[in-house]
Amino acid sequence: MSHVDPTKLPVLDPTDPAGLDDLLSADEKAIRGAVRQTLDAIAEPYIAEWFEQGCIPNIKELTRELGSLGVLGMHLDGYGCAGMTATEYGLACLEIEATDSGLRSLVSVQGSLAMFAIWRWGSEEQKQEWLPRMAAGEAIGCFGLTEPDVGSDPANLQTRARRDGSDWILDGRKMWISNAPYADVAVVWAHTEDGIRGFVVPTDTPGFSAPEIKHKLSLRASATGELILDGVRLPESAMLPEARGLKGPLSCLNEARFGIVWGSLGAARSSLEAARRYSIDRVQFGRPIGGFQLTQQKLADMSLEYIKGYLLALHLGRRKDQNTLRPEQVSIGKLNNVREAIEICRTARGILGGNGISLEYPVIRHMVNLESVLTYEGTVEMHTLVLGQVLTGQSAFR
Ligand SMILES: Cc1cc2nc3c(=O)[nH]c(=O)nc-3n(C[C@H](O)[C@H](O)[C@H](O)COP(=O)(O)OP(=O)(O)OC[C@H]3O[C@@H](n4cnc5c(N)ncnc54)[C@H](O)[C@@H]3O)c2cc1C
Repeated sequence: MSHVDPTKLPVLDPTDPAGLDDLLSADEKAIRGAVRQTLDAIAEPYIAEWFEQGCIPNIKELTRELGSLGVLGMHLDGYGCAGMTATEYGLACLEIEATDSGLRSLVSVQGSLAMFAIWRWGSEEQKQEWLPRMAAGEAIGCFGLTEPDVGSDPANLQTRARRDGSDWILDGRKMWISNAPYADVAVVWAHTEDGIRGFVVPTDTPGFSAPEIKHKLSLRASATGELILDGVRLPESAMLPEARGLKGPLSCLNEARFGIVWGSLGAARSSLEAARRYSIDRVQFGRPIGGFQLTQQKLADMSLEYIKGYLLALHLGRRKDQNTLRPEQVSIGKLNNVREAIEICRTARGILGGNGISLEYPVIRHMVNLESVLTYEGTVEMHTLVLGQVLTGQSAFR
């Protein structure tokens, strides 16, 4: 064994104490840097105000800027999409959510839910019509699965699509749909006589409306709406021809969850870094609060959970890039990383004391945003049951 001279070892970086950066390729670091730089210019200075107002005033322009950056459907090939790797997409999600979970939701719903549904299950005509515009951010998409009475158990959907000649007529109501109030196109899942099918619905179709859900105290920089489908008449060509049954929507959710595995770490990183810096600057009892063992315990635990979550995300990213990633493994990542990210934000909130509840700092915004992230794309309980079934062979869903 050769002797290592400690003075020759890499310098320790307090923002990356485990040296995780060494696990990334030069291309991955370059993409991460480009996303960070753009977000710092187009969103970071304004995000607290957008959150407080409960809307992004220039949403169409912002979406086009995200399109120019190449992050909309960035892991898809062709049709104007960037064709990046899953790991690169994950790194982009982390940077976007370090700014705000609402922005990452916009990107996830656009790329992993609406675009992926069309890319994976759509006709050539649907792909040509929507994907290039959606990749460029010129058209915004939403994805309607959840209903007022149907959330975790989507097999029970109440929205109906029935035939009228060669047309389809859609009736029903969707709830909690991200991007809905300003979307140009909605991917809507409905029961037909042939089981669950997906439909590509231009939002200017008569009978379709998407009123905004107000009074949210989480994901305020993201518009959430209902979808009201009141005798919406669509041509036969509106149906996603290849998606039959629940595997259609579930395949899309699996894509979006992968982005959340990474994205949630962004909110955690931002909060951890805010707390670390605060602990160095804030003096009480004559010394920086970071000098107290109780504060160091908190920071050390937050840092450990971030490191473990990052390693898990990277492992899942590498598996996805090798086409060996199973949905159950995505559940493991979503369950762990969102749960630990919200704990990191809550602990950071405490370290900031009274300042922790102010929008002057990003921490409470990330913390309340993650309440939504904990619930959407499968709640903590659903992913626990997925892992429980893997471990025991017993399904405990019913
Ligand atoms: C901000 C936001 C944005 C969203 N965006 C979208 C979107 O774009 N598109 C979309 O389709 N949906 C979207 N959703 C909806 C989201 O996916 C659902 O809220 C989620 O699936 C949970 O459904 P639910 O709210 O109906 O809760 P329910 O399914 O009613 O669950 C309520 C509670 O019961 C628990 N529970 C349910 N069944 C079981 C069981 N078998 N065992 C143990 N516990 C159980 C749940 O885990 C949860 O804690 C969004 C939600 C939010 C908050």
